[in-house]
Amino acid sequence: MGIDPNFERNREQVGEEHDVAVWGPVDPPEQLGIRGTHVAVDFDICLADGACLEDCPVDVFEWVDTPGHGESEIKANPTDEEQCIDCMLCVDVCPVDAIDVDPGRENRI
Ligand code: SF4
Repeated sequence: MGIDPNFERNREQVGEEHDVAVWGPVDPPEQLGIRGTHVAVDFDICLADGACLEDCPVDVFEWVDTPGHGESEIKANPTDEEQCIDCMLCVDVCPVDAIDVDPGRENRI
């Protein structure tokens, strides 16, 4: 199962880390939640494939360390989500559907 595209309705923002919102629940290091709002990555699904970092034309993503997480010990954080041009390449290439891009989400919160 991939990222919940309606997470802003189904989860609560519990803070901010690496310049983006954190949507809970979180219980580090095993449970890290969803990161970002316009460009959102479910850290509990991300397995550090890296296709999003390679393919994003405007370099939205950067690796962050997540030691102790079961899927991978680095994650693709949408640090520069404000640069996103909504091309949807990252959504298409992610092998585990961990990414959801929605430019209207900010206005629905
Ligand atoms: S939708 Fe396109 S521009 Fe936006 S983060 Fe994904 S790959 Fe980058």
